[in-house]
Amino acid sequence: RAKSAGGNRFELADPEADARAITRHGLTTALPTALERGEFFIEYQPLVHLGDGSVRGAEALVRWLHPQHGVLGPDRFIPLAEHTGLIVPLGRWVLEQSVRQAREWRELHGGADAMGPLRINVNLSPCQLTHPGLVQDTVDILERTGVEPDALCLEVTESALIGADDDLLKPLRRLAEMGVDIALDDFGTGYSNLANLRRLPVSILKLDRSFTQSMQQFPADPVDLKIVEGIVSLAHSLDLTVTVEGVETGAQAEQLRILGCDTAQGWYYARPGPPERLHELALVDATG
Ligand code: C2E
Ligand code: MG
Ligand code: MG
Ligand code: MG
Repeated sequence: RAKSAGGNRFELADPEADARAITRHGLTTALPTALERGEFFIEYQPLVHLGDGSVRGAEALVRWLHPQHGVLGPDRFIPLAEHTGLIVPLGRWVLEQSVRQAREWRELHGGADAMGPLRINVNLSPCQLTHPGLVQDTVDILERTGVEPDALCLEVTESALIGADDDLLKPLRRLAEMGVDIALDDFGTGYSNLANLRRLPVSILKLDRSFTQSMQQFPADPVDLKIVEGIVSLAHSLDLTVTVEGVETGAQAEQLRILGCDTAQGWYYARPGPPERLHELALVDATG
């Protein structure tokens, strides 16, 4: 620890940075036991059809109920889990839990209505993509739970796929061939070549929240509108579905609906919450 030796000139110790470092270190070492102790849990945020407002599914978002620090969001620990490799078993756990949850909704909800069964979106980290067990683990989980592959969507960020070679795309292609949807998450934040989209086995584009934020005013900035309009029409011409993230107001939802976006997600509809909440929302929806 740096101590000031006469005056403040060598006052290098930054208590806040220390606290951050200790927490980071502490969190990293606590991660493996956290999984064993069942300290992770999943919240679900509804995915809503922009045309009719119906709930079509949910995105699974992992949280850590830390015994000392309380509930931690994924941004606090996913990078650490990626760094230590724990992301592979953690990601597998999230996938299994979420798919089980989807099956439960399906049983409760009947899945008999015109909208079909609720779908489940699960985030994949780049480390999971390069892990050789991904396809088999996914197949096993779907078989064990009896959930059809087309009820599952795996979200991969645009940045994880930038410059992806065929080896990286192979497992995603296999999953896509089985009927699993692949979504390109946080689309528009990377610098991927739009023409590159043709090469990727994706069926859904998730427009990043920054686009939604630019729809704050109604009508929104004409240039922003043109950009989103362009992305949506390109996506549709490639047979991709467009989902928008971070919808916080009705005005944003309306604007994005007019622009042709298909599905939306955001606080305007619901914050991420427990699975019962999703079921309630879907049920209210189905019964009017
Ligand atoms: P993401 O996949 O882009 O998920 C959307 C994030 O936006 C979530 O943050 C969600 O809570 C937040 N959000 C949703 N609606 C709104 C809104 O209207 N306004 C605002 N301001 N935010 C909204 P969260 O839960 O903190 O997750 C952050 C990121 O952590 C996720 O971004 C995803 O990349 C990652 N993540 C979450 N769960 C998992 C997981 O199980 N595995 C992996 N590998 N990554 C995960
Ligand atoms: Mg996501
Ligand atoms: Mg996203
Ligand atoms: Mg995002």
